[in-house]
Amino acid sequence: MDVIVSLCKRRGFIFQSSEIYGGTGSCWDYGPLGVELRNNIKRVWWRDFVHQRDDMVGLDASILMHPMVWKASGHLDHFTDPMVDCRECKRRFRADQIDEIDWTHYCPATKGNKFTIKAGEPCKHCGVRRTLCPECGKGELTAPRQFNLMFKTFMGPVEEDASVTYLRPETAQGIFVNFDNILQATRRKLPFGIAQIGKAFRNEITPGNFIFRSREFEQMEIEFFVNPHDRVDGRPADEAWHDRWIAECQAWFTRYGLAAEHVKLHEHARDELAHYAKRTVDLLYKFPMGWSELMGIANRTDFDLKQHAKFSGKSLTWFDEERKEHLVPFVIEPSAGVDRALLAFLLDAYREEEVRGEKRVVLRFHPELAPIKIAVLPLLKKRPEIVATCHDLRHRLTRRWLTLYDDTAAIGRLYRRQDEVGTPYCVTVDVKTVGDPEKGETGDGKVTIRERDTMQQIRVPITDLETVFARLLDAGTAWSEVAAAYPRAEG
Ligand code: ATP
Repeated sequence: MDVIVSLCKRRGFIFQSSEIYGGTGSCWDYGPLGVELRNNIKRVWWRDFVHQRDDMVGLDASILMHPMVWKASGHLDHFTDPMVDCRECKRRFRADQIDEIDWTHYCPATKGNKFTIKAGEPCKHCGVRRTLCPECGKGELTAPRQFNLMFKTFMGPVEEDASVTYLRPETAQGIFVNFDNILQATRRKLPFGIAQIGKAFRNEITPGNFIFRSREFEQMEIEFFVNPHDRVDGRPADEAWHDRWIAECQAWFTRYGLAAEHVKLHEHARDELAHYAKRTVDLLYKFPMGWSELMGIANRTDFDLKQHAKFSGKSLTWFDEERKEHLVPFVIEPSAGVDRALLAFLLDAYREEEVRGEKRVVLRFHPELAPIKIAVLPLLKKRPEIVATCHDLRHRLTRRWLTLYDDTAAIGRLYRRQDEVGTPYCVTVDVKTVGDPEKGETGDGKVTIRERDTMQQIRVPITDLETVFARLLDAGTAWSEVAAAYPRAEG
């Protein structure tokens, strides 16, 4: 993880928020490359799950909602963690995690010397186990108290109880409260889904592991409404659709680069299930700190719609023409974090390779996710014709694929830099491309394309570039197939 964190900072993917003020450990800023990667993940997800499906529509609900939403959803009463506070240093810990933290101990058997002792172990000098604050080693801890993870704020000019509202802790509720609006506006039939990408906020007690758990993050969520009386594949529709969504989500992550052996499913046991869920399956990724949740796919039954109907007094039903009855749909919820997805894609793409005795760092991003698709590089930046051709190419190509120009180092170095940020293709303009008027030589109008993973190079006429990149980047044609039509260039 440390290697990824440092690469992210060095190359402008991710910075700590407010770093010049010492940083806020739980929030992150996405730099020039990070924002492109993040946008690509969201764009591809939206395209695959919204645009390319006949049974999905999109939504962008506001972050601030009526406070009753959170009463109805159960977040006000249940979205809590048990916390203990140190009476001395005032630090706060999750009661269920306190024995998993290394602890500070002033040992009486060694004249009060200070030791840091491994989590769960006793002091080897005096044999005692931790009873005081693990951080300062001095304070008594309070009894556990429930702490709500929602950020509270005030709407309007007066800070009074009546104006209290919350930053949404999940995007899902914005979908449920708009269920009827969308039904009326689109006349959808079950089954259909509503998708949303947006920010969510949780006052996590123990944020950490880089962007894995932060207090401000983004979710990509779908609420897929089904008729529980229908049968699909011989089973109740909600159960069959749940399995379909689990398979679709797993396939999506592997399609865009996660190795199949780094992803696995975790079935929630009865005592792990949220109060509203009939069944929940998490998709776990093998993060450096161990297998952890990448996303969750829950069968939330009709809980949310029924709750909002109860609290709002509005009917949130769908009319089943066939059975001539109003019913409350069941809902399957695939819920993924943009930031966790981004971290997993980064980790899986990272490789250190040895090339001709030198270390090469490469991010083998799927081309659709790669922040920059093409880098246009001059072999000699002193030659104005070469530089002008590069700029012209960059302008033309960037209309369709984000293209960058770089002339700040020698070509070998420029290639390495692009490898390190995962740019799939480099285009190099050289003397042969533009010719040498002083020697009376005309250029051949061809450039070199270098592919990131194989490092193979081919010589391609400038006039073919757009067709070649359309095949590689839009149609997904394999490099080997495209490259076979052109002569190899020397590496
Ligand atoms: P965890 O158990 O890790 O706290 P969760 O089960 O509470 O996660 P959900 O409420 O199911 O998470 O949220 C759906 C998804 O949103 C998660 O799978 C994760 O990808 C993302 N997510 C949730 N909390 C955070 C967070 N604090 N920081 C970043 N992403 C998050």
